[in-house]
Amino acid sequence: MATLRQSALAMVQARPRIPVTPPSSKISDFFGANVFGNQQMKETLAPSVFKKVMEAIDKGSKIDPATAEEIASAVKTWAITKGVTHYTHWFQPLTGTTAEKHDSFFDMYSGMEKFKGSALVQQEPDASSFPNGGIRSTFEARGYTAWDPSSPIFVFEKTLCIPTIFVSYTGEALDYKTPLLKSIESINEASIAICQLFDRDVRKVSPSLGIEQEYFVVDKALYAARPDLVMAGRSVFGHTPARGQQLEDHYFGSIPSRVKDFMMDFEIEAHKLGIPVSTRHNEVAPGQFEVAPIFEEINKANDHNQLLMDVMDKVGDKHSLKVLLHEKPFAGVNGSGKHNNWSLITDTGVNLFQPSSSARENLQFLVFLVATVKAVYDHADLLRASIASASNDFRLGANEAPPAIMSIFLGATLSELLDELEKNGNVKIEKGDNMYMKLGITKIPEIILDNTDRNRTSPFAFTGNKFEFRAVGSSANCGGPMTTLNVIVAEVLRDLYKDIEKEMEAGKEKKIAIVDVLRKYIKDSKKIRFEGDGYSEEWAKEAQKRGLSNFKSTPEALDVYTKKSTKQLFEKHKVLNHVEVHARHEIELEAYIKKVQIESRVMGDLALNHIIPTAILYQNKLIENANGLKGLGLDHTAALDSIKEISKHLATLQIDVNAMTQARKQLNKEDDVTKRAKDYQSKVKEAYFDKIRYAVDKLELLVDDESWPLVKYRELLFIR
Ligand code: ADP
Ligand code: MG
Repeated sequence: MATLRQSALAMVQARPRIPVTPPSSKISDFFGANVFGNQQMKETLAPSVFKKVMEAIDKGSKIDPATAEEIASAVKTWAITKGVTHYTHWFQPLTGTTAEKHDSFFDMYSGMEKFKGSALVQQEPDASSFPNGGIRSTFEARGYTAWDPSSPIFVFEKTLCIPTIFVSYTGEALDYKTPLLKSIESINEASIAICQLFDRDVRKVSPSLGIEQEYFVVDKALYAARPDLVMAGRSVFGHTPARGQQLEDHYFGSIPSRVKDFMMDFEIEAHKLGIPVSTRHNEVAPGQFEVAPIFEEINKANDHNQLLMDVMDKVGDKHSLKVLLHEKPFAGVNGSGKHNNWSLITDTGVNLFQPSSSARENLQFLVFLVATVKAVYDHADLLRASIASASNDFRLGANEAPPAIMSIFLGATLSELLDELEKNGNVKIEKGDNMYMKLGITKIPEIILDNTDRNRTSPFAFTGNKFEFRAVGSSANCGGPMTTLNVIVAEVLRDLYKDIEKEMEAGKEKKIAIVDVLRKYIKDSKKIRFEGDGYSEEWAKEAQKRGLSNFKSTPEALDVYTKKSTKQLFEKHKVLNHVEVHARHEIELEAYIKKVQIESRVMGDLALNHIIPTAILYQNKLIENANGLKGLGLDHTAALDSIKEISKHLATLQIDVNAMTQARKQLNKEDDVTKRAKDYQSKVKEAYFDKIRYAVDKLELLVDDESWPLVKYRELLFIR
């Protein structure tokens, strides 16, 4: 009988291509077709209602019940023309995926389709089935979702989806969106104050985000034949193929045709949903690809990324492909991240991280640049915690760029400029001096060419007109890290503003006051700046000398959430209260434990039920062969050597798997969740994963190819 692996491989050979025809050769003809956006609202709502929605979007004002009723009615009519029968509140619980609960428009009693304003604005899903870190005990599990008008309503899979926040009945956030929205408000306020030192017309500052999403693609049948991919999202075993990414030919190569069809197809769906995806290419590892949209306002960008992951999954299915968003699905080749390109843009149209030809604007640029550097320095541990997860641990701190040490790359031009500013601390500015000239600020080129993407090893890099946070994992909800980034930068901006005010009160001219404060901040945060190879051993040593943290595992990185200063920071910015911070910490520890637990179980099952029996069968064949050769009086040392080699690995495998199971049993008795997570890290993952994998991967090389039960790396990775 054929093994699962063999039948899967046969299926792959027979895959037809799924031809894709775009609805039109012009994307503009169908872009946003499935979105109830500004255009649709303008067309279908009364002008007074439309005005109220716009105010709710721009200023966060409340929508009154009558207005909600009118919007709901218009949305329903629009949705029905699209063949939609159900609606759902679409939200982002802390499980890391999106959630929905569908209700039908059909009203049995009236026999008509109905959609009430109240149903648009609020819903009550059962909060007890989502992680809440002890905020809600199950018997009072009432949480509710509330409409977020700043992100457009859309139709996906014949369902009307309403983006919402998700909070407990007592108001605590149970999702990623609520704190993100609050952090947007906080950085807006802090930035406006600074901007007004330069331009009184600035009324609003919004963070923008462009998310480059990396992912792997494997054939669906091969995926189904790998229980580890199905259960854990990554391969726990598998010997690296003869040809990995050493040739670096994949990055520049053409996209395999099956994958290209898939990409075209999901891009069409994304465009219909108003997701501005624009670039597609191969990534470094074989089977790895990237999609990037044009940046948007941060809340919308994050919703779009969450939705895009879903779209890719659904469309992949149609092409018999499975999209792997795990940070490290395959050992020995690069992992996947999600580069978060972040900047701040004013309502007057100025990107605050864009150097300009005007020296005055460059001083403002420097304020925001230095504030961000200082924020990463002051709160590196929080930033590290914001991207911590069991799956991202395989990337960060595991000999792969970017490292777990937080640092900032600015590029030669800016780095030298900041050094100079700091050194020129004693330069006296006289009346009539051109201060900008004297301090070298006029030297900032309008377009900084020399550093864009030069340093791919930095977790946090300035790339010409934005910062790029590269350590975010490919499966993450960017709402987490972006909330943290907004808060820490807002915090420094507030301090900066106060310090500038103080200097001015002491009689300094505004420009001088700003420069003097900047100098201090540059000096104080110098240690976080690093221009070298973040991947190297030397950097780890150097960083340690500088006193920078290097948390290699999630449970360790998450400790920062227990600090009083963390709770105070989030509370001060009205983003999370101390109960919410505590809850998030617990949820993430629990998630970590569960993931390691699942991986450990999958390893054990595969080893005991698939690997060991197969290896024994093959070994028996060798024994037969050895006996046969011996009976004929022929040399049988080769067979004997193989038999011994297999025995050796079988023995360690059996011992290690059993010991790992015992270790797990012990740890499950531990009540303290932090301790349990840390022990899962050291006593299960660290202690056994590599050992067990080593033995299995050796056996893969020893046992004959035909009987090996697991689909091999070379079969998974080289898709055509
Ligand atoms: P890379 O060289 O890293 O591929 P790109 O210039 O192609 O960088 O941009 C990567 C992402 O950064 C895209 O999603 C792009 O829209 C986004 N981006 C560009 N400018 C900004 C900005 N000012 N704010 C936020 N994201 C931006
Ligand atoms: Mg990039």
